[in-house]
Amino acid sequence: MTIPTTPFRARAFGVLLAASVMTASQYCRTADGGEPRSPADLVRAYPDFVKGVEGNLLFWRDGATTLIDDGTPPKDFQTVLVRPDIKDMFLIPYVVGRPHAVPRVNDDPGRIRNEDFFRRMYGDCRKGEVVKQLRSVKWLHAWGGGSVKVTTINHVADRLEDVIAELQALPDAFKPYLIPNAGTYTCRDIAGTSRTSMHSYGAAIDINLKYSDYWRWPKPRQYPIPYTNRIPYEIVDIFERHGFIWGGKWYHYDTMHFEYRPELLPAP
Ligand SMILES: [Zn+2]
Repeated sequence: MTIPTTPFRARAFGVLLAASVMTASQYCRTADGGEPRSPADLVRAYPDFVKGVEGNLLFWRDGATTLIDDGTPPKDFQTVLVRPDIKDMFLIPYVVGRPHAVPRVNDDPGRIRNEDFFRRMYGDCRKGEVVKQLRSVKWLHAWGGGSVKVTTINHVADRLEDVIAELQALPDAFKPYLIPNAGTYTCRDIAGTSRTSMHSYGAAIDINLKYSDYWRWPKPRQYPIPYTNRIPYEIVDIFERHGFIWGGKWYHYDTMHFEYRPELLPAP
């Protein structure tokens, strides 16, 4: 049930994923010696919705319950991306802090998302449920960054304002990475898939495309995918401290992308 708290084992687990073998009962542990992340962290991360977890059940505040382990056999990497249960969301540890190595094959912490879980909180954008929860937030006003629309559910808009206050204190040299931003809310699937993007919930932001890299862009595609990033770590650090994970820590890298996933991060 536990994985030792070393970066080596975290990476070894990435290799496990590459070999298309998942171990069902392992939950992620931070490499910095912090507490392991597990479904119990959903209670801490989303207290307005998740009341508790006990045994194999997650209890919602509205009285509903969700199975944590749906009982299906260990899934290969593609299956776990498409049909994860609650437990699967914690299979790959998200390591906080400055990366010391490029991600191993299929080491994609946070890309495994149980869609029913997030839709229950943020709503279904195709039914117009997400739009009515959005709030306009000024994006780096002092640098003329305009505004973005972000969900108020789970206080995501407030958390993004905390991020913005710190980003705005960075030297002017950081401005080109952040302005113009490349969008927050859009009702769409992840490119090339039928999986729902965190942008569809208004809980993600893309920063400036011009300085960003995305694994699908280089052609012809090579395997293993060569990693590229130009986003300074100072920006990543600020987002991580306010509950957002960075797509630049994925083997399938998406360095413009930040999404609100506090369950994968240490408690503040
Ligand atoms: Zn994005």
